[in-house]
Amino acid sequence: MASAGRYIPTEREQTFVGSIENPKYDRGIINGLKPFFEDKAPEDIKGFYAPDELSILLKLKGTDRDVESRMPVKMTRHFFELAQTSEPLKHIIKANPDETLNLAGSEDPGYQMDYAPVEGLLHKYEMGLMYVVSTCSAHCRFCYREELISQKDIERQDGTVAKKGLAKIKPITDYILAHNKIVAENGGRHPVTGREKLREMLLSGGDPMVLPNRKIGEWMAALAEAGIESIRLGTKEMSFHPKRFDDAFLAMIDNFHETYPEVGFRLMIHFNHPDEFLLKASDGSYQTNPNGSLKWHPDTLRAMQGLVERGWINIENQAPIIKGINDDADALRVMQRALYRVGVGNHYFFCGRDIVAYQAFNVPIETAWNILNESQKGLSGVETHARLSITHYRGKTEVSAVTGDPIPGLKGAENGVLIFKILRNALDAPRRGKVCIVGRNPDAIWFDDYEDRVLFDEAGLFDYARVEKKTIKVEDPLLEAVPA
Ligand code: SF4
Repeated sequence: MASAGRYIPTEREQTFVGSIENPKYDRGIINGLKPFFEDKAPEDIKGFYAPDELSILLKLKGTDRDVESRMPVKMTRHFFELAQTSEPLKHIIKANPDETLNLAGSEDPGYQMDYAPVEGLLHKYEMGLMYVVSTCSAHCRFCYREELISQKDIERQDGTVAKKGLAKIKPITDYILAHNKIVAENGGRHPVTGREKLREMLLSGGDPMVLPNRKIGEWMAALAEAGIESIRLGTKEMSFHPKRFDDAFLAMIDNFHETYPEVGFRLMIHFNHPDEFLLKASDGSYQTNPNGSLKWHPDTLRAMQGLVERGWINIENQAPIIKGINDDADALRVMQRALYRVGVGNHYFFCGRDIVAYQAFNVPIETAWNILNESQKGLSGVETHARLSITHYRGKTEVSAVTGDPIPGLKGAENGVLIFKILRNALDAPRRGKVCIVGRNPDAIWFDDYEDRVLFDEAGLFDYARVEKKTIKVEDPLLEAVPA
């Protein structure tokens, strides 16, 4: 995509961006294991790792099993304090030597780079996702962006090897404008890919909420000027440092809404476990309000209410189901109920991806389905909107059902079946709704584990070849870079 020159903001953008306040935030971040190895962590945080845990982690330092080279270690004071009374929360951020026992996995899960027409942009479905930053306030050990956060070299489809780069406003907006122009001129579909208008963009990373308000505002305004209809922002900051959603941030968002009232804004938050936002009593139970509802942490509740009361912001939670963290039907039931009560939708739960070392984190697919199904028993219909999704290389796929009993007369279904359904195809829409039925395998944690028991596959999940890049016109890098 030719995008020479500097990005020139419009007058409207400049006025909006010029109004943004940029406070600094003190998250009390502890970066890496070094402060623990060298006994330099703040006094009350020192005990987060026991001496024997530290000595094993130190022995692994510099070896293939170094946990920090797989995924940098980082935590905030707010999250540390929450984790004092929660084992699942400790697991989210605490490095464990077992993480690197088995390093099998994909260095570019989902072959994301096949869908990157411009550095830092993934163009899948009708949506674009941008890496706008490569870190978060704290780091989840199970992160499926570990390759971005730890800045690993990734092999591209053309055989070159490079770290994943971050998005820049000029090339991204040039790409959006060029793509949408071609779509408009071709009756609503791209002539090469069949895709529709790029109408929704997700600011992602890393966590965009670690950026200053001004940078977030610059991105939002530039996307709005490029004709984007809906902006999403994916964040775990509500859990790591909820005070980040302060008056200055809300003023920026309000001003954005006044300037671009036709552009939707969706906040995709990430809570894995209710301990991240509910208050606990000394016996470990959740504290309740006089009417029996569960009491939120005051900082998180304030942040959430500030967003929810602006009715034009949609807030949805999505989270993977991870071993030792939230593979617990009771925790998920409490979480879905408590989130919906304050106005947060339950969007997806995910099966873990095939990241490097995935076996340390992923719950078997059928177990994850059972846990989610169990968790939704007794919830009201509106509280149970979440589906279980697993990201196949073909696109977002739902784990729709797992049968408990054999299906009489169907060979291979003696132990029951699992049904996958394509929700969103990575390239375009025609496969949506197509299913794949496999004989059960309770130990399966990735698609490979069903390879020998496929019964019906109209979705083509087990007939997958990496997308082929088609060079249409060498002088037109837009077409050259888009997979056909
Ligand atoms: S917040 Fe998200 S991107 Fe950041 S470390 Fe956790 S899973 Fe990864």
